[in-house]
Amino acid sequence: MFDLTGKRVFVTGAATGIGKAIAETLSATGALVFAADIDRQAGVAVVNNLREQGLAAEFVELDVSDEGTCTRVAEGILAEHKGLDILVNNAGVGHVGTILQTTAADLDRLFAVNVRGMFSLTKAFLPAMIEQNRGVVINMASIGGVVAISDRLAYCTTKFAVVGFTKCLALDHAKQGIRAVAVCPGRVETDFVKKRLAEYPDPEKAYQEMSSTQAVGRMATSEEIASAVLYLASDEASFVTGTAFEIDGGFSGI
Ligand code: NAD
Repeated sequence: MFDLTGKRVFVTGAATGIGKAIAETLSATGALVFAADIDRQAGVAVVNNLREQGLAAEFVELDVSDEGTCTRVAEGILAEHKGLDILVNNAGVGHVGTILQTTAADLDRLFAVNVRGMFSLTKAFLPAMIEQNRGVVINMASIGGVVAISDRLAYCTTKFAVVGFTKCLALDHAKQGIRAVAVCPGRVETDFVKKRLAEYPDPEKAYQEMSSTQAVGRMATSEEIASAVLYLASDEASFVTGTAFEIDGGFSGI
């Protein structure tokens, strides 16, 4: 049903997890995907795999917290490909702790990746989108961007910021053909969650607890989140903007 043929798509955090699934799903529907990640080895493997299937993808090495690199990368793509249709700001990092277990440096690090990263890339690509009077910006928030999750003070703070950033972006640029949507997944079984689980004294018990916070009794797969992103990125979602799209298996919170 969804066809992204001819669309130029930039996805961050595309080497693993949700971002990898987004890159795979969007390229499978015809898009040219720029798969960006700080992890060159894993990112190149994703792109090689797509190319072996005859799909269009390029790897871009990028630390989203480095504004200069974000700007340079965007300028290069815009010069060569004359624009961008869909920007998926997915890269993000986590942290476990209440405020008492969170340092100012932890908070700065999470803001630099989770919020400033999407700010820099959006700022760099948006003028070209406005010029073509068409563009979609999809920002990966979290269910922790709309409800509080215990022991995730810094993480939730940044994800609430992602939702706010997205709503402002959508409002300011709707009449210039831009849509902006925040995606708010519940728990998704990726390396991201595995890293968090490893921080608990009993990871198996924590796994069961995290699974049970979704009414469906399990975590999502990355592909389930990528399907939602495909819809939101497509022309079928032409009336969807400024929203925090919850895809959470009926998250009940802890
Ligand atoms: P992941 O850790 O499996 O993958 C994240 C990817 O981002 C990795 O490839 C990593 O190399 C890359 N990355 C990290 N820092 C980067 C940087 N500075 N610059 C460029 N790339 C960088 O994570 P995931 O579970 O796939 O999560 C992806 C996004 O979804 C994140 O924003 C996360 O907050 C959000 N999210 C995840 C879950 C979950 O349960 N897994 C739930 C809700 C939201």
